[in-house]
Amino acid sequence: MKTETKSQNKTRFCEFCDRTGIIHNPHYDTLGEDALTPCPKCIITKCLCGGEDPFYYYKDGKIEECPCRETRMKIIKINTIYNRAGINKKYQWKRLNDFKSVSKQADEAKNAAYDIVKQFPNVKKGLYLWGNAGTGKTLLASIILTEIIIRHAVEGRFISISRNFFKSLQETFHEGSETYGESARIEKELADVDILIIDDFGIQKDTEWKQETLYDLVDARYEAEKFTIFTSNTNPHKTLKDLSQGRILSRIKEMCRILEISGDDYRDKL
Ligand SMILES: [Zn+2]
Ligand SMILES: [Zn+2]
Repeated sequence: MKTETKSQNKTRFCEFCDRTGIIHNPHYDTLGEDALTPCPKCIITKCLCGGEDPFYYYKDGKIEECPCRETRMKIIKINTIYNRAGINKKYQWKRLNDFKSVSKQADEAKNAAYDIVKQFPNVKKGLYLWGNAGTGKTLLASIILTEIIIRHAVEGRFISISRNFFKSLQETFHEGSETYGESARIEKELADVDILIIDDFGIQKDTEWKQETLYDLVDARYEAEKFTIFTSNTNPHKTLKDLSQGRILSRIKEMCRILEISGDDYRDKL
């Protein structure tokens, strides 16, 4: 019986939802709807519970699991993971189709993103996207995280070095803060998470603590062979060369494919 269910699983979903059972609604925000919904063609048509949590229905006096249940539970799980991933609101739920290539370099980066999304979790290398501001690096990194969470429901985090990373760690040293004393927990969580986006990566010249914290994070992910994406406004071959005797750069070279996206400000063309 078990094997039968398995082979049914493969053919259960349709082309319309790309065989996932889940549809992404690109206008969810303006319509006030959910970003993800069960496929109206292969899931909703079979639903007997009316979409009522916990997704069971009555048949001949017995309680039966609704055919929609697995998909709806998966959507709930994806939403939970997504809401704690920390993706900037303006990039949330953006998909690969939303990334418009405006240059050859951007094309290459988009293709690399596409390959990663298709091959995950069998991906050997992450990405290091660098170039001047406004070329869509953060958008593309957010898209990769979104695509992988939607497809695989794995944990991912987005941290911004310039915006909140050090600030959130510093808060853990303040008595009375909600996260007081939790720096080790936060650092471990970032070292262990399946996918980590480190946005705005760069040299932290101001304090040694910042340099060391970043090095430890990169090193921990390197050692654990965890999938990591970096974005940076500067050329790592130049700016990271002398940092920690070049150790960070050599780690990053092994962990990531380094791609440049430079050019006109992407945001002007949207
Ligand atoms: Zn479908
Ligand atoms: Zn149902």
